[in-house]
Amino acid sequence: AVFTLALGACSGEGAGGDDATTPAGDDSATKVVGVAMPEQTLERWQADAAAVQDGLTEAGYEVELQFAGNDIPTQQEQIDQMITKGVDVLIVASIDGASLSTQLDAAASANIPVIAYDRLITGTENVDFYVTFDNFNVGVQQGTSLLQGLGILDDSGADTGEKGPFNIEIFAGSPDDNNATFFYNGAMSVVQPYIDNGTLVVKSGQTDFGQVATQGWDQARAQSRMDDLVTSSYQSDKVHGILASNDALGRGAITSLQSAGYTLDDIPVVTGQDAELASTKWINEGWQYSTIFKDTRKLAVQAVDSAKALLEGGQPEVNDTETYDNGVKVVPSFLLESDVVTSDNLTELLVDSGYYTQSEIDSGT
Ligand code: BGC
Repeated sequence: AVFTLALGACSGEGAGGDDATTPAGDDSATKVVGVAMPEQTLERWQADAAAVQDGLTEAGYEVELQFAGNDIPTQQEQIDQMITKGVDVLIVASIDGASLSTQLDAAASANIPVIAYDRLITGTENVDFYVTFDNFNVGVQQGTSLLQGLGILDDSGADTGEKGPFNIEIFAGSPDDNNATFFYNGAMSVVQPYIDNGTLVVKSGQTDFGQVATQGWDQARAQSRMDDLVTSSYQSDKVHGILASNDALGRGAITSLQSAGYTLDDIPVVTGQDAELASTKWINEGWQYSTIFKDTRKLAVQAVDSAKALLEGGQPEVNDTETYDNGVKVVPSFLLESDVVTSDNLTELLVDSGYYTQSEIDSGT
């Protein structure tokens, strides 16, 4: 079996090969990596999937890739099938991090290592490793950028003495996604003091995670919640800032405000995340203030390298062993850094790095 591995997968294969760990029937061919992605409506998951698939293929592995349409039972079934087919490693970006224990138990029984991708999988000991961004810091960057956009902090992050008051509203991510509370907590760690001292006013009174979370990270839900907020709280006052946990939520809020008559002159400072093309275009045009660029190419490389290490009997690279307690264990993690994008550095971060071309940003397609 040792000599049947393709390309790069050969090197480093220890004595005895994978006979002990590979399910029956899969000892003669290329190793297979199961990749479970949550959905493909958001550009980021398409980009993640493509980059992971390319990297694995280039390394000589076969890839079994599935998107679950944001439906938990679909994702459970897809992972069950990957295990039945005898994949050698699983890379999973979960929908509901707490709903995969049965699948991960089965993976463990079949000696299939599991890498959690971007989102932590909770409530199980059978997740081996986690590749993600520094999610708390993503939230800190969002909160800081909201304060900078409003002029409360300067470019260096120092308080300008600006006391507002500014009206803001908060849109957080999906309650079943472990990342959502990390983003929220990170952002609130810098925003809350300014709510407490009256510089920021949340007119709706909705500040708790439970009140501002958006099931499924759904843009349409964010839009309709903003519609409701306009009706309930902003008939005679303007909203000046929107702390949105990702671009989809930000675009939902902006679309609602456009319908309510906001223009480029009074559109609030809106944050985001993912540097999606539609939002990047809006940052360029002035509708959205900022986004957080998490280079999915880098995350994909990290996941591919981790899978390679596991397939070749090594250990994935770890740079954090403290942060991601999944309720059963602290999952060894590799955290990547993210960048704040505004109209000032958009070209440098997104065009010069080859993430988008200028014409894609100009045309939005
Ligand atoms: C990811 C974000 C993404 C969100 C919605 C989060 O877990 O980290 O990048 O915007 O899910 O898909």
